[in-house]
Amino acid sequence: MIQTTGLSKSFNGLEVLKSIDLRVAPKEIVVLLGPSGSGKSTLLRSLNGLEELDGGSLEVNGVRVEASMPSKKKQANFREIRRHTGMVFQQFNLYPHKTALGNVIESLLTVKKMKKEEAVKIGEQLLGRVGLLAKKDEYPSRLSGGQQQRVAIARALAMEPALMLFDEPTSALDPELVGEVLEVMRQLAREGMTMVIVTHEMKFARQVANRIVFMDGGVIVEEQEPEIFFQHPESERARKFINQLQ
Ligand code: ADP
Ligand code: MG
Repeated sequence: MIQTTGLSKSFNGLEVLKSIDLRVAPKEIVVLLGPSGSGKSTLLRSLNGLEELDGGSLEVNGVRVEASMPSKKKQANFREIRRHTGMVFQQFNLYPHKTALGNVIESLLTVKKMKKEEAVKIGEQLLGRVGLLAKKDEYPSRLSGGQQQRVAIARALAMEPALMLFDEPTSALDPELVGEVLEVMRQLAREGMTMVIVTHEMKFARQVANRIVFMDGGVIVEEQEPEIFFQHPESERARKFINQLQ
């Protein structure tokens, strides 16, 4: 589903992704871990063109982008990739002036040009999947952070993505609201969604991930099954990272 080869990215001369080779199989759940500043967000954002590539190439769901392609071609291919890729951020970024349902169906109306009636039917199903059908007419300001993030997930699912990217989806939430969002993500995992997740929720990572990808200083230091990673990390840097968690 995802393959990057020699992916590199610099900001103002500082190389923050150094030749990243990442592969994610269909239905695989990969959790990206690493210290702050290690390049996790930049990697996720590079996958769908929110960051421009400086070097290397990537392929997402069969669409290929090479850093060396003409800019127009890259942009067109990233537009295609974004159509197949749902992304959920720490900040929910819902439209404040639209209801929960309005937020979920926005892309169906504007991108898919669906009739309102049909979009509403799908939107209600999606809100049902995240347990929020009863809140469909509420505005974001009247929803808790956990509910807003579940609406954001439903909104991402509306485009029927082939994969979902999550960047610290629970980091902005009060502790008591984290569980409901993780439960929705667990459900997605059970349904066979391909997911790449950056999270600080280690118990969740351990339970849900098929593979942990550990980054530090812009490189992938180690990739392991969760049990092995947490109990017997190979690298000194991973050991240090895990020890700091306790
Ligand atoms: P992580 O998500 O692992 O905390 P990031 O991918 O956000 O790490 O950041 C990796 C490095 O890139 C950090 O040194 C960060 O300061 C830098 N960086 C990220 N985004 C930008 C940007 N837009 N401009 C300049 N530097 C950036
Ligand atoms: Mg980050």
